[in-house]
Amino acid sequence: MISTNKKHIALISVHGDPAIEIGKEEAGGQNVYVRYVGEALAKQGWQVDMFTRKANAEQPRIVQHSPNCRTIRLTAGPEQFVPRDNIFGYAPDFVQEFLKFQEENGVVYPIVHTNYWISSWVGMQLKKIQGSKQVHTYHSLGAVKYRAISTIPMIATMRLDVEKAVLETAERIVATSPQEKEHMRSMVSKKGNIDIIPCGTDVRHYGAITKEEARQQLGIDDDTKVVLYVGRFDKRKGIETLVRAVAKSKLRGNSKLKLIIGGGSRPGQSDGIERDRIESIVNELGLTDITVFPGRLGENDLPVYYAAADVSVVPSHYEPFGLVTIEAMACGTPVVGSDVGGLQFTVLPEKTGLLCPPKDDVAFATAIDRILANPEWRSELGRNARMRVEKMFSWDGVASQLSNLYTQLLEEPAESLDQVSA
Ligand code: UDP
Repeated sequence: MISTNKKHIALISVHGDPAIEIGKEEAGGQNVYVRYVGEALAKQGWQVDMFTRKANAEQPRIVQHSPNCRTIRLTAGPEQFVPRDNIFGYAPDFVQEFLKFQEENGVVYPIVHTNYWISSWVGMQLKKIQGSKQVHTYHSLGAVKYRAISTIPMIATMRLDVEKAVLETAERIVATSPQEKEHMRSMVSKKGNIDIIPCGTDVRHYGAITKEEARQQLGIDDDTKVVLYVGRFDKRKGIETLVRAVAKSKLRGNSKLKLIIGGGSRPGQSDGIERDRIESIVNELGLTDITVFPGRLGENDLPVYYAAADVSVVPSHYEPFGLVTIEAMACGTPVVGSDVGGLQFTVLPEKTGLLCPPKDDVAFATAIDRILANPEWRSELGRNARMRVEKMFSWDGVASQLSNLYTQLLEEPAESLDQVSA
């Protein structure tokens, strides 16, 4: 017998597995978002099932995160890594497997919260088939992304169509910043219901260690100036701009300057090409002696690296939100970021960090130097940054806002299936 359990929620993230290691290949902010939103919602009384595509034959089908929160891996396409631009063809199989799972487990999810455009298509099918209400978070907008890159993938037209359709039909779209909402309105469609609910971070985990303790753990002297990047190796992340900025820094030639570029994976994986490219620029610019690549940073390493840094740099060409920014800020470290997207929301220039035009290595060098040259101001920016995150970006606060949204949607009368598929 199939039942509708009102407190059940399905988070769908076809290509971003919430249970895998973050920081390599294509695993980044979306995986973190889904996992932490899921876990925080479970604490607030929801029964949370997070659905993703099984991308490795050895992975377990179900991972239990907490009593009311689990990841469920559905087989749709080969059980191996497939780049996200090639996954859409498996979306119909994903829908079938999702329906099969529901049937086997006697549940129909009244709300599906989908993540990224591929999952949004899955959600739109579930809406047609069984009237599930849909909440959608884009994580990245094709319309913005394709403006910023030179090679447009084949899948672009389909993606743009799907992104417009979901904006116009989902019960609610979650924009993670006012800037993202503005992009949706100006570049995708004037129709549709958008709420702004930001991404969050764990304010207990990030900020639990002081700069002095962190430096002791990492063996870094007090008088060393540390510039940090954390994130995936992807051209869009603009790591090249940071490297070129450090090469132009006034502190260039000072052996106390240190550049840490954290993230990345093993040789042979798809992000290895960008990593090799960045390493060769580091070598070319003569920065090898002051640059370290610690590789992928685990959950316990991250607060230590952020806290040890004098400044955390987020030089992305485009950033819908940018979790790294609020993680660094929660650790009391100011951020120098690109003046784009969500970074315009999270970073308050001159208060919690500085913003520079994307790809402008001279502007980044000047901003980094300003912070490194003034330790007192650096600490003040860091304190303000921490306060801003506590106030606006804790996962518990974000999950409460989502929980209110779902509750409100559940109380609204459902459209009949005829209306939905019309
Ligand atoms: N991350 C990590 N280890 C690493 C590099 C990154 O755990 O070595 C995490 C980082 O802490 C953040 C996420 O990956 O939570 C990246 O999210 P963001 O929104 O900054 O960028 P995205 O990857 O989504 O483009």
